[in-house]
Amino acid sequence: MIIDRKTPPTRYHQYIALKERLDKEEFEPLNLKYLSYKSGYRGETSIDYFLKLLNHEELVIMHDVRLPNEEDFFQIDTLILARSFWLVIESKNYSGSVTVFPKSQQLICSYKTGDQTFDDPLEQVKIASRKLSNWFSENGCKALGRLPAYHQVVFTNKNSSFTVHSDLEVITSKYCRPSALIDKIEMWESENRSNSIPFSEVVRTATLLTNSYQCWIPDYMKMDYYVSKMKKGVICKTCGSERMAYIANKKLWKCINIECTNTSTDAHLDAIYHYALLINKDITNKQLRSFLNIESRDISYRILKSLELPQSGTPRLRIYDLSVFLRGEKEGPYTT
Ligand SMILES: [Zn+2]
Repeated sequence: MIIDRKTPPTRYHQYIALKERLDKEEFEPLNLKYLSYKSGYRGETSIDYFLKLLNHEELVIMHDVRLPNEEDFFQIDTLILARSFWLVIESKNYSGSVTVFPKSQQLICSYKTGDQTFDDPLEQVKIASRKLSNWFSENGCKALGRLPAYHQVVFTNKNSSFTVHSDLEVITSKYCRPSALIDKIEMWESENRSNSIPFSEVVRTATLLTNSYQCWIPDYMKMDYYVSKMKKGVICKTCGSERMAYIANKKLWKCINIECTNTSTDAHLDAIYHYALLINKDITNKQLRSFLNIESRDISYRILKSLELPQSGTPRLRIYDLSVFLRGEKEGPYTT
């Protein structure tokens, strides 16, 4: 059994939401950032493609693990928990010609237009691995914490080349392409098989990690300018029309574009997810009515009730918590 746990790539989704809701000219300055998130997300999914080819029956694959760490949190792109080892992966989607200098802990991307310097991602993944090891011991995951731990930087951009400036194989082997992961994982599995722990223990730790997940809350203030320019309402996925109107007696959304016949019973979910991504993780009945362009307090109440969201506040001013969307516990609108 391979358990694959995912949380939504919320930063990338923010840009998709803005692309849908802003006029083309307003979105233009954000386009490069959008393309960079898009390409990064594709890079991460390319790792998935190879991991799915693994001939392995007992593995937990977790993406975007965010865990509390003192006052802050730490983040892992991809974590693999096996019965005999665990592995932390940092994926990078750099373009151009990539050269890593482990001694000076630097990485340089060379393009036709010039060079760009970054921190060596190996340092980042080493620190994350150490923090996770501490987290295991602080949270009673002794069996897993005692297993050999590996960390790996994976360059996911097929169109870029990479070179590591080191004579030490122990260093150069820490950087690879997604396709090389399969052999590495099978090798570690074979080397450590004699020290395997029960898979139930691996699953118990994975469940604890999922329950401890610290959801990313967007910095909403940074979005204020774009929110003030964007369209509100429920956007029609078929024609891209600005909005769909709610037909109360049929309990469905209908596109207001007379040339489009699209209807939907749950089109509001996209809009509510956009609200959580761009405006606030909390919402009141009044705020929902304003964002969805509906007048009826009852319809708004029915929508909120159907979502079974955590609530706070008073009966007169009930506040609904949308962070379940950011945590991926409610079905988000985007699967790619
Ligand atoms: Zn339409």
